[in-house]
Amino acid sequence: MKIHEYQAKELLRAYGAPVPPGEVAATAEQAAAAAEKYGRCVLKAQVHSGGRGKAGGVRLAENAEKARALAGDMLGMRLATNQTGPEGKLVRKLLVTPAVEVKKEFYLCVTGDHENAALVIIASADGGTEIEETARTHPERIARVRVSASEGFKRYEGLQAAGVLGLSGENEQELISLLASMVRLYQEKDCSLVEINPLALTADGHLMCLDAKVAFDDNALFRHPELKEMRDIDEEDPREYLASQHGLNFVSLSGTIGCLVNGAGLAMATMDIIQHFGGEPANFLDVGGGASKEKVQAAFELLLSDKNVRAIFVNIFGGIMKCDVIAEGVVAAAREMGITIPLIVRLEGTNAALGKQILADSGLAIIPAENMADGARKAVEAARAGGDGA
Ligand code: GDP
Ligand code: MN
Repeated sequence: MKIHEYQAKELLRAYGAPVPPGEVAATAEQAAAAAEKYGRCVLKAQVHSGGRGKAGGVRLAENAEKARALAGDMLGMRLATNQTGPEGKLVRKLLVTPAVEVKKEFYLCVTGDHENAALVIIASADGGTEIEETARTHPERIARVRVSASEGFKRYEGLQAAGVLGLSGENEQELISLLASMVRLYQEKDCSLVEINPLALTADGHLMCLDAKVAFDDNALFRHPELKEMRDIDEEDPREYLASQHGLNFVSLSGTIGCLVNGAGLAMATMDIIQHFGGEPANFLDVGGGASKEKVQAAFELLLSDKNVRAIFVNIFGGIMKCDVIAEGVVAAAREMGITIPLIVRLEGTNAALGKQILADSGLAIIPAENMADGARKAVEAARAGGDGA
């Protein structure tokens, strides 16, 4: 789960990190009121995307009147960054924060080092909006310091990072304390990322987090009910949100064959075999171990909401899940939803014969498949016949 910059900054502040003050504004009036307090300030579009600075989503206002006018322009605009795609994201909220005078910008992040079952601090003295370019052209300027997951952050790891950033004296101490906060936040809240870019060395000689990005491991969210209210559904893909509400593992793709499969491995194999027979999957969808009628219905809803889908391939290997149960779910959902595009169903495993009988007796135009290859071939043919050939 991703959160907004202002929320990430609140968390970091609570963990003792140096974060400038700020106020969230949803109207030009609110932005002007905040700017009244701060004087010269920065208005920052709150969307779940980086690269805002380069796209016009981070702007300087000299005073409250300028802030009001700028906020009027920014609120309601669609901000297209290099991460959002050309359609951009609607700006509903701004963070108003005092303009800090910056001497130098660093990059700093804490994330997982899965290969080593550890955490890693990633640090670079070339922070700011060009960090992706630096990663491409000068990867040696980005340093990694491994942190033990079981032992936590150690002072010498902080000293190493300070060396990379060229910080000494008071700034070295500030960095160590900031890193301790970041690692503690990362571990206590089950984050997947805690990133500060830029970490600024201010004109008055202190470290300050000017931007913050925090993301959480979805699989651990159940342990943190307090984080749920930070979720902003407006920022999420509505289809992926629907999927998550029903416990479906769903990724939207660009092909024409909708896939409904139980098990992530079989779902991937299904995508492969569709491509093997010359088709393109419209999605990855794993309905998991126990697919109720509601789950199958939500899955069909997801598939049918994609206008590119010309055929649906249901590929089930019934182990724990019984084929007759899934067959009943498929029949009920297909009937209630009035599915008109070709529906190819392959059932194998526990109670397969019973499941096939339920499909055959349904009176629906469900195309049965003998096996996975047969199903994929039929789905590719059906999608081609139903398509416009484009
Ligand atoms: P991003 O482009 O989405 O990562 O947004 P950032 O919050 O990182 O802002 C982009 C750039 O704007 C930063 O790299 C800074 O150079 C600049 N910036 C943001 N906040 C401030 C600020 O308070 N003072 C100054 N001087 N620059 C800022
Ligand atoms: Mn940034």
